[in-house]
Amino acid sequence: MSECLFCEIVAHELDADIVHETANTLAFRDIHPVAPVHVLVIPKKHVASSQELGAATGELLAELFETIKTVAEHADVDAGHRLVTNVGAAAGQTVPHLHFHVIGGRPLSWPPG
Ligand code: AMP
Ligand code: ZN
Repeated sequence: MSECLFCEIVAHELDADIVHETANTLAFRDIHPVAPVHVLVIPKKHVASSQELGAATGELLAELFETIKTVAEHADVDAGHRLVTNVGAAAGQTVPHLHFHVIGGRPLSWPPG
């Protein structure tokens, strides 16, 4: 068993409500949704956070954003949603595997807490 929750989902060792999949990315519903639409988009490869992204991961990043776009379109929030990635415990990152929250389906206030 992997020690990373999201790597376990990628390996199908843990169930998830998967909404979209590509060769290198996975999108599944957040288990504790904060809005009618709350999907997590992750790379299948373990990447700890966006701090590990750069020129060398350009193709993966492009694929992640293609998945984010598709998820938003399928959920009918392409015209209005929030895209969030928390980096580190101080910002509220609880799962140390890069994930983008796609949140929408209700009015969203700003700034966040
Ligand atoms: P963050 O706090 O930014 O690291 O986000 C982690 C997110 O993962 C939280 O919104 C959790 O509700 C969500 N989460 C934790 N475990 C699972 C799981 N097994 N399936 C789906 N979402 C999960
Ligand atoms: Zn992982």
